[in-house]
Amino acid sequence: MISAQKSMAAVNSFSLLRDYARAGRIVARVRASPGIASYPSSINFLTANHSRRYLCRASATHDEEAAAKAAAINADSGVPTIFDKIIAKEIPSTIVYEDDKVLAFKDVNPQAPVHVLVIPKVRDGLTQLGKAEPRHGEILGQLLYAAKIVAEKEGIVDGFRVVINNGPSACQSVYHLHLHVLGGRQMNWPPG
Ligand code: AMP
Repeated sequence: MISAQKSMAAVNSFSLLRDYARAGRIVARVRASPGIASYPSSINFLTANHSRRYLCRASATHDEEAAAKAAAINADSGVPTIFDKIIAKEIPSTIVYEDDKVLAFKDVNPQAPVHVLVIPKVRDGLTQLGKAEPRHGEILGQLLYAAKIVAEKEGIVDGFRVVINNGPSACQSVYHLHLHVLGGRQMNWPPG
């Protein structure tokens, strides 16, 4: 009887070790995936005690490409975006710079020590840069100039990057034109 219990305990220990090893391999794959790498918070909770179900859920939740494709479906429907709520101050944001045309606020999911979004207060058809028309020239210039002001305010004017993701293949997820102002660390090239 005791020997049977010992064998069962050994089998259970082996199963635990095997599951741990599997979890390790999956975590390694999650870390290796560029889409997931930009969401370190999504993998911080991965421990041996979490099943593959949780790991898969983490991958699915942060699948940037799928989210971008989904967001693109309503891109030009005129439906307000989360940025409209931020402009209206209906949801909180950390504002870095504001004038009558432009709002700049901290990205909720920062990809660098400094990560600020710069947006026009009035969308005026600018769901994405690819929709720009000659009449948008002035606001486009104002957005770029605001990006420089943000870089100065954040102390990164000597080295920063401005990014605009345009469309699903660039992983745009909010269809209200926005500039990402990134800095505070060494930026690599080429970008992912
Ligand atoms: P993109 O993927 O280029 O369309 O960028 C959209 C950005 O908006 C992402 O970096 C998100 O982290 C950011 N974002 C989404 N919701 C919020 C929010 N409520 N406050 C601040 N940033 C947000």
